Amino acid sequence: RGRSLAALAQAPSRTADGVEIHLYANAELGDDVARARRDGADGIGLYRSEFLFMRHKQLPTEEEQFIAYRDLVLGMGGAPVTIRTLDLGADKADAAGLLVRREENPALGVRGIRLALRFPAVFGTQIRAILRAACYGPVRVLVPMVTQSDELIAVRALFNMAREELQREGIDLPERLPLGAMIEVPAAAINVRALLDHADFLAIGSNDLTQYVLAADRDNDALGNLYTPLQPALLRLLAFVIHTCRKVGKPVSLCGEIGGDVHFTALLLALGLSEFSMHPSQLLPVRERLSQLDRSVLLRQAPRLLRAYTYEDVEQVLASMTESAS
Ligand code: PEP
Ligand code: MG
Repeated sequence: RGRSLAALAQAPSRTADGVEIHLYANAELGDDVARARRDGADGIGLYRSEFLFMRHKQLPTEEEQFIAYRDLVLGMGGAPVTIRTLDLGADKADAAGLLVRREENPALGVRGIRLALRFPAVFGTQIRAILRAACYGPVRVLVPMVTQSDELIAVRALFNMAREELQREGIDLPERLPLGAMIEVPAAAINVRALLDHADFLAIGSNDLTQYVLAADRDNDALGNLYTPLQPALLRLLAFVIHTCRKVGKPVSLCGEIGGDVHFTALLLALGLSEFSMHPSQLLPVRERLSQLDRSVLLRQAPRLLRAYTYEDVEQVLASMTESAS
């Protein structure tokens, strides 16, 4: 089985009915990049840059960040790399303790882009490092915890400012640098059309989106079947975001844990998803699962799934759909 999975890495990933599906890797460390390449990832769909801020006792300098991002880009050998801007908050503090304040309710507090925009000098340093690294290969920038479009407008303005600065300094700049929003706050998902006026692409952060839609802590095991993509409210929201994105013609991926969970591959295909990002260890299992599923059958049956009213109904409909699509 190990060998046959490894053989899968060489060919593009396709469903049983021949539709190409893009599989990207989530990365935090250098090892992830090596594995992503070995197992045939189409690129990095989520690089969690906050790990650079959590590991060191001081904030990483522009040069340190530049080297980390450039090495990531070079390591992927020309495949696209999506760098998420720092996603810190009271749940994930910077090791230097300079940015994050203790909060009563960290999940609902100053985290992700809310925090980054409060520290324009720190954020500006990261932005300069990303712009410089983007000269070495295709890079996309992903903004975490977006709630409304003014946050994307502010980020774009900071990128434009940094561009002007670097240009004055005679430093090379990339021509294009697509800017995307993570969809992980319910308001962003419900009002996604507004964000699409300011984003070049979207990435659904289903870990946080599930937590916020169900009001169920992502790390609390005591909440039974609340924290699951089989919840009808979450399914409808996912379908809405994916379809709105397709209508506007912009790419959308999903980079939460469910993207790499073979139990949910059929579900995500049925919702119209065609770009998945996952832990590198899941690339081959998901590829194998995709090769067993008929996407057109799943898409045809999706309305049944979206009419389900309860978790149990969803589970049942999904099981019968998966059977007819396998
Ligand atoms: C998510 O929320 O789904 C996500 C991918 O981001 P993180 O797990 O880093 O919060
Ligand atoms: Mg998240």
